[in-house]
Amino acid sequence: MNAVFQGPVSWPKEYSSHPADASLYGSPKRLRSTSMKASGTLKRSTATEGRPLSNGSTANRALTGESSREITSCMRCGACCMKGGPTLHAEDRHLIAAGRVRREDLITIRKGELTHIPDREGLHPAGTEIVKISGKGRTWECLFFDRAGSSCRIYEHRPLECRILKCWDTAELLSVIGKDPLRRADVIDPEDPVLELIEGHEEECSVRQMEDLLSLLSGSNEDPAAFEELEELIQRDLTFRAAAVSAFSLPLSAELFMFGRPLFKLLGGRGVSVREEDGGLRLFRSDSSS
Ligand code: SF4
Repeated sequence: MNAVFQGPVSWPKEYSSHPADASLYGSPKRLRSTSMKASGTLKRSTATEGRPLSNGSTANRALTGESSREITSCMRCGACCMKGGPTLHAEDRHLIAAGRVRREDLITIRKGELTHIPDREGLHPAGTEIVKISGKGRTWECLFFDRAGSSCRIYEHRPLECRILKCWDTAELLSVIGKDPLRRADVIDPEDPVLELIEGHEEECSVRQMEDLLSLLSGSNEDPAAFEELEELIQRDLTFRAAAVSAFSLPLSAELFMFGRPLFKLLGGRGVSVREEDGGLRLFRSDSSS
């Protein structure tokens, strides 16, 4: 089964430069990888030098060949920053207000998007919207990570999660996951008309709507009407974005903060695939949801 979208929105090529994999919650991949390190498989030397990255501890880059001690301070390896930028909390709002972090540096993970959650296996729907630092290109590597210098470009003004992350002991970071998350409305002027747009987008193109339709397409209980509705929803989402981009001259980065990733980008691995064809979008049922 497939259908062709012939609406006013052509294939949004600019989206192809953005990560299509499952979204992150906080920095779960950071946690997963660093928890292994904290179990004692990664060691540190006694030498200390350089500027710390995610925590306030002394940096240590001389790792190779050292095998006598477990990590107890930041080694400035950059692994945490390369795994993904932090989720922002209400406490981080001042960073946006002061211009240290711009809205264009952020991406919104909308309520209901499947996410990795620290200390839980698999993917789970986000219980609330999440605003986090964007990645680079098709990766989730933090926008502010400077690989050449293995350093943070906003180190003095890094968000809460970066300040408390200790890869050798993640308890403090885990204690704030899901607490007081920053929301889009927290950093938008209440009089700004884009707020109304965001609310309208949530009403008309929510992740919940998409998930409800996908649930009707699971297994052998294929529902042709649900497939048609899903097509309409995907199209509506793109049409909404195109109208907002046009009206407010939004760059893609601003759009991703305001509306999150387009719904069609969330279909990967869900039994439905999307292709550009004849100037429109075609939805196909995949053989499996793997
Ligand atoms: S804001 Fe800085 S410390 Fe935090 S993940 Fe990004 S580069 Fe790393």
